[in-house]
Amino acid sequence: MGTTVSFAAGSRERSFIMVKPDGVHRGLVGDIIKRFEQRGYKLVGIKVIVPSRELAAKHYAEHDGKPFFPKLVDFLSSGAVVAMVFEGKDVVKTGRTMIGATNPLASAPGTIRGDFGIDMGRNIIHGSDSVDSAMREIALWFKADELADYEPVATPWLYE
Ligand code: UDP
Repeated sequence: MGTTVSFAAGSRERSFIMVKPDGVHRGLVGDIIKRFEQRGYKLVGIKVIVPSRELAAKHYAEHDGKPFFPKLVDFLSSGAVVAMVFEGKDVVKTGRTMIGATNPLASAPGTIRGDFGIDMGRNIIHGSDSVDSAMREIALWFKADELADYEPVATPWLYE
């Protein structure tokens, strides 16, 4: 405690979190942000954007060639998404736990997909699946100067 803040190891990890068009249309943005905030994760970047097909295809490049790829790209570029970067200890793995399984029907209640979704192609939210993917996705969706560098006063109350 005191005036000098020391970061717990790993607390600067970042994840790319995106509310997809279905989540935006359904008015779930506030609830989703609230869950990450309440958990203690720091919002360092946010933008509302209708992604081009090119950006959507780049984002999901690892799925290029799979049967669901064209539909996925069409869907992601069909409307506004809320692209975000959250920061904090283990945010990539914990973010995935908070989001739930890819198939909402297989997601536990209490997770975002388990509370709000039914079909795989309408699963509301994206979250990076590894620290490497997070770095790639953040660079794809955000410029460096669109990410805020600040220290919440709550930090010493979240990290020991
Ligand atoms: N998806 C789909 N059908 C499938 C597999 C995936 O529509 O059979 C969609 C689904 O919306 C998923 C996205 O493609 O969120 C990316 O798939 P991934 O396996 O990366 O799942 P995620 O990391 O989003 O859980």
